[in-house]
Amino acid sequence: MKEIGLYVHIPFCRSKCLYCDFNSYECREGDSEDYVAALLRELDEYQKRYDFIYKTVFIGGGTPTVINCFLIGSILEKLSPFIMSGAEITMESNPGTVTFENLKYYRSLGINRLSIGLQAWQGELLRGLGRIHSPEDFLHVYDCARKSGFDNINTDLMFALPNQTLGMWKETLKKVAGLGMDHISCYSLILEEGTKLYELYREGRVQLPDEEADREMYWTAVEVLDSYRYGQYEISNFARKNMECRHNLIYWRNEEYLGVGAGSHSRLGNIRFWNFRDIDSYVSLIRKGKLPVEGQEELSSDVEMWETIFLSLRLNEGLDLQGFKSRYGIDFQGRYADVINRLTAQGLISIEAGRVKLTGKGKDLSNSVFIEFL
Ligand code: SF4
Repeated sequence: MKEIGLYVHIPFCRSKCLYCDFNSYECREGDSEDYVAALLRELDEYQKRYDFIYKTVFIGGGTPTVINCFLIGSILEKLSPFIMSGAEITMESNPGTVTFENLKYYRSLGINRLSIGLQAWQGELLRGLGRIHSPEDFLHVYDCARKSGFDNINTDLMFALPNQTLGMWKETLKKVAGLGMDHISCYSLILEEGTKLYELYREGRVQLPDEEADREMYWTAVEVLDSYRYGQYEISNFARKNMECRHNLIYWRNEEYLGVGAGSHSRLGNIRFWNFRDIDSYVSLIRKGKLPVEGQEELSSDVEMWETIFLSLRLNEGLDLQGFKSRYGIDFQGRYADVINRLTAQGLISIEAGRVKLTGKGKDLSNSVFIEFL
């Protein structure tokens, strides 16, 4: 049996946030039943073809909590024979779509990690992003989640938002850390073409913080969360001791995973493949007895090595030189000597105790560092 991670995509939301370019759609009546029936068939197809056992499961979206909770139950029922004992099973949720009863039910299904999308503590910022909830809704979900037995809870936050000041960002961090959250993700808002926010920005109706303010907010997060004893283990992720997200570590360590659902990506061996994003195409292909795969690519060893390098460098633990040699049979310091010397001289990376790591300056310029190894 092969141990891998499993990602399950639920592409429905109550309504579309203004900045969102994820594969998510406003949930229409009846959509989710047909979709989950297709998802269960897709899982069957993989179980027939491969001998997988899942060491982590991540039910993401979209907003998985927007669909009938018994549909989530049917997914877990299908998966349960193939989930390893002690596996981390995460589900994403958004305030305004969850009740105490539902949370108790999710917990009874074996879901042991809940991720709650908050983004910001200030109602006016949430409204400006098109979020459907208030900070009070978030507090209610958090309280219900603790009472229903979740002892591993993440929240997602965003900075560099329209009209967000440094003071607002600090308040958000302190409020969330003060609650005793187990894990906190902090991502900078990326303005994506095709979103409503992008249009508003182009029309000059929305102002965004500049690059300098973005970096100031990032380093404020590192400092504030450190003062609340959160360990930073990835460029954008912070956790209490031993509460790192095991599923996301699979991605950052460039290990194998299967993704099911519309638009999901998978990496098995040296093949990466992805499903149709569009829900109708996804469902209709499965109904015809086909896998809903839209495309695939074979990863050359050079590409795979580069991905391992840049993903590992995102982690605070960095790239393990001995592990790299065992995996690829290549001496990292020999092969990349020129790049290492240049980046070290520029103060962007360091090598300590057999690991290559980004420095603070390297984190600010991480994309430029990654490209150097390409
Ligand atoms: S809740 Fe998340 S996935 Fe849904 S529209 Fe908003 S940002 Fe996108």
